[in-house]
Amino acid sequence: MDALDILTNLDKVVPYYQPILSADEQIIIGYEILGRYIQGEQINSLGPFFNDKEIPEEYKFEVDQLLLERASLIASQFEPGQKLFINRSVDQLMYQDGEPFLEQLLALEKKGLPLNKFVLEIEYDSYSGDIQQVVHLLSYYRTYGIQIAVSKKEFEKSTVDLLGLLEPDILKVNLAALRLTGTSASFQDIMFTLSLLARKIGAELLFENIEMDYQLQFAWKNGGRYYQGFYLSHPAPKLVSPFMLKERLKQEFHGFILSEKKKIQAIYSAAESFHHKVQSIVVKQKKPSYEDLFLQIKREMDPAAFRMYVCDEDGFQLSANYFKNPESGWVVQSEYLHKNWSWRPYFLENIIKMRNENKGILSDLYSDIETGEPVRTFSYPVSSQEFLFIDISHHFLFDSNLIL
Ligand code: CA
Repeated sequence: MDALDILTNLDKVVPYYQPILSADEQIIIGYEILGRYIQGEQINSLGPFFNDKEIPEEYKFEVDQLLLERASLIASQFEPGQKLFINRSVDQLMYQDGEPFLEQLLALEKKGLPLNKFVLEIEYDSYSGDIQQVVHLLSYYRTYGIQIAVSKKEFEKSTVDLLGLLEPDILKVNLAALRLTGTSASFQDIMFTLSLLARKIGAELLFENIEMDYQLQFAWKNGGRYYQGFYLSHPAPKLVSPFMLKERLKQEFHGFILSEKKKIQAIYSAAESFHHKVQSIVVKQKKPSYEDLFLQIKREMDPAAFRMYVCDEDGFQLSANYFKNPESGWVVQSEYLHKNWSWRPYFLENIIKMRNENKGILSDLYSDIETGEPVRTFSYPVSSQEFLFIDISHHFLFDSNLIL
């Protein structure tokens, strides 16, 4: 597909529309415009044309302008609340300081298309210019009611700074990365950071490139409000009913909800069972040494527990660590005596909670500092000044379906 062919056959350039669905209403809340080029029987994506660095911005602008012109005709058929997502790379957006694009939008508004129907989707993967100018231009677009979405192919450390500057309304997460890495821990961690960040800057998460059922589940589970991808709907030259996928999405959610509730229930039951085991050991002991306590717990909880220690209410260790070495078995690690853990997330909150409720707590899943494996900690109030911590091994959690 030659750039010149495209420019001399602009009548063969057509917009396709890919539905975007919402989790809260399970309806189509908008469409992303995707450029297509018709060559006889073949319908080719204009993606390679737009991504080609050799092609001058001027040519790309001409094709973009045409796509938007044609798409705006169909946008007049939109239901209230539906939006048109327009793709622009930062370079395209900043073409001639963004003026020709804004002029086109204002001309469309004059023809009766309100600008709050537009979401400007910025592909931000490489830009060498001044980001402050981009920020300035975006805030100008916002005054017209245009929403801003930011999409990135890859998320790295600098993404956090970038998103803080651009403050998008929508953050697009590309699930192609998930397909490559599976549900690897690093992608999960990035997702967790992204969802916290999105919450902080008030952006909604839109997951794109959903091509398999497990990706939809991943999006649902990671705070995705909007979904887009072949698994739900292919791009097409015309619009569909907003309710087309409502029943199917409800069915899918039903399955996700059932399996999630089952997992959460299993974690609650495990916490209950740990609580009763430890409680029965603690009440039987009149004035135990910590060593005695650990030996009893080891007897009851050997496959689950791999580390135990006791802290005071300020987080100072009152006991050594009792640690199960994978090769040599249980050992006493006295170097841990008097160490302090009050700085760890939720530590003091959990102490107060245990004391007030007089009940053990099973923590969330986190990476163990030494083994690097995802583990949980069961903590129990032995008295109002002594708190027992039992780290539960990854193996046990995995075998008992307590990973979540
Ligand atoms: Ca896009």
